[in-house]
Amino acid sequence: MKNLTLFTGCLLFCFLVFCGCTFGEKKENALTHAILINKITIGVKCDSKPFGFIDNQGNIQGFDVDIAKNITNLILGDENSLELVCVSAQSRIADLNSKKVDLLVAAMSITDNRANVVRFSTPYYIAGQAIMTKNNSKIAALSDLNKANVGFILGTTSERTIRNLAPAANLRASKTYFEIFELLKDDEIDAILADDSILYGILMDNNGYKILPKRYTREYYAVATRQNKESNELFEEVNNAINIMQQRGIINEIKAKWIPNLHS
Ligand code: GLU
Repeated sequence: MKNLTLFTGCLLFCFLVFCGCTFGEKKENALTHAILINKITIGVKCDSKPFGFIDNQGNIQGFDVDIAKNITNLILGDENSLELVCVSAQSRIADLNSKKVDLLVAAMSITDNRANVVRFSTPYYIAGQAIMTKNNSKIAALSDLNKANVGFILGTTSERTIRNLAPAANLRASKTYFEIFELLKDDEIDAILADDSILYGILMDNNGYKILPKRYTREYYAVATRQNKESNELFEEVNNAINIMQQRGIINEIKAKWIPNLHS
């Protein structure tokens, strides 16, 4: 009798461990979890028109938002299953790895350092860093930035570029594109070094500024997922979605919608 009770106890224990593991795994698998709750939470920029910004109605819009909607639609069958969260250039990697968001579609360039802490999809867009000044500025090339006051956004790839290519520039860090543009407008800085794609968004809404023709880098924008193995399937699905969007011409349509004149 004692042995039977022990045996039943062991069986029960094994059953509970098995269930626990199975349910535990299911809960942690990012794709299974998204399907179960019918929701994907995606981090986008909200200060980076036309990639991610808040429109006059208070809705988050832009190139990256359309990419995020299409990814959600291709994975869950409905773009309304997307929940958008604003992330900043400084916070986005922490927001992803702390599970505040499932994915980042945040004008984010692939770099070796970042690839140590997140997993990047196939790129969906190529930008290039450029200089923006006032129309009447004497700055015409990167070398003119030495000794000038130059703005960059903290946590972006332009910080390294400016430090490498114009080491004698007086640097001014800002947290958002709103902030950096105010500095340029008020002549507190002479130029901004940033992705042409986002500088272009500032030009859309403001007269009296220009983007110089030269590009100093190639920025491959990609979707970021977590590196843990629970995110493997979600990562595969994101790559599939990007490939489908490329094949169906959806990415080109999104480009034509948001940045019609940048690549003409
Ligand atoms: N593409 C640049 C980067 O990944 C700029 C992105 C941004 O301004 O958020 O650093």
